[in-house]
Amino acid sequence: MYKPEREQALAKTAVALMGECDVPANPDNFELFYAYAAGENPAIAQVMGAHIAARKPFTAAMLQDLRTRCLSSARTAKAMETLGTNMTDVINAVMAKLEAAGREAEQYSSQLNAASDELGTQRSAGDLRAVVQGLLGATKAMEERTKNLEGELQRSSAQVNDLRAKLDNVRKESLTDPLTGIANRKAFDDAAEQAMQQIAGGEKVSLLLCDIDHFKKFNDTWGHQTGDQVLKLVAACLSENVKGRDTAARYGGEEFAVLLRGIGLTDAARIADQIRGTVETKNLVKKSTGDILGKITISIGVAQFREGEAIEAAVRRADACLYGAKHHGRNMVVDENDPRMAALETTAA
Ligand code: GH3
Ligand code: MG
Ligand code: MG
Repeated sequence: MYKPEREQALAKTAVALMGECDVPANPDNFELFYAYAAGENPAIAQVMGAHIAARKPFTAAMLQDLRTRCLSSARTAKAMETLGTNMTDVINAVMAKLEAAGREAEQYSSQLNAASDELGTQRSAGDLRAVVQGLLGATKAMEERTKNLEGELQRSSAQVNDLRAKLDNVRKESLTDPLTGIANRKAFDDAAEQAMQQIAGGEKVSLLLCDIDHFKKFNDTWGHQTGDQVLKLVAACLSENVKGRDTAARYGGEEFAVLLRGIGLTDAARIADQIRGTVETKNLVKKSTGDILGKITISIGVAQFREGEAIEAAVRRADACLYGAKHHGRNMVVDENDPRMAALETTAA
């Protein structure tokens, strides 16, 4: 039953909590805090509950991560559930029609049998005409029902096709980052999983981890929404340089990952530098005001997957290289064979 009082109370709680946690009251954050107040999403309840209890601050990156991980998967699950119910309804309707058709065919068959019996006993021309007339009537009615059934089955088949297309859209959506339109973290994880199998077959696969330089400062200067436009721009630069079986994904907040198949470390570092160069050449202008926002740069860490290792191990190596690139001045590419990495490891040890 629809209960507006409950929804109003939840909305009030959500807004109050956003205030207490010092979180900007924008629609995206409201959706998260409302979901938390409603307590229907176990992942949100657990992560946010622990965070609030520990009085830790909510960063933009963490909120974004929660949205992509918890809200979008809950939305997908809900959409799948609705489509599943619709599909079941269509299938049940088809089954009912087929059962009815079966019953009608049986009835027709017994009408034929009865007519055949009557033909054996009735002799006069008038009697025969009556039997034939009855048969004609029953046959016509059967033809009519068959035609109706064909039409209904055709409509059901169109409904099933429509549902299949919707299911396909939900699947695509569940693998796409809504802001940038490129692959999301889940799609990246799936692609990395597949790539690991190719490595077992002898193929080289490399990984780039990209992070925008001084992005916090950019957001602080120009606002989060303009920052979001930068994320779109970086995603477009990645897509421009990544083709075919390769996957460019938003890995989280302002980090992107690229999976390069059939490509070893040296070529991967070359592609990474192309991407870095593409981003560097863009002149940023705020569309609404014409303000010149200058340029942005990205740093990239590059690692090659090793046979038998866990995906996380390669991600850790690429991340260490990304840290190396930041450490050595940003706007650069560092791969795991870079001598500067050895120096960094010695410093860290
Ligand atoms: P560094 O060069 O060391 O990477 O510096 P940084 O400022 O980029 O790094 P830091 O990790 O301190 O900050 C990351 C920033 O990314 C903070 C956060 O506001 C921003 N960010 C994360 N996700 C989003 C998002 O979805 N939209 C916007 N506009 N900003 C985001
Ligand atoms: Mg970062
Ligand atoms: Mg950064």
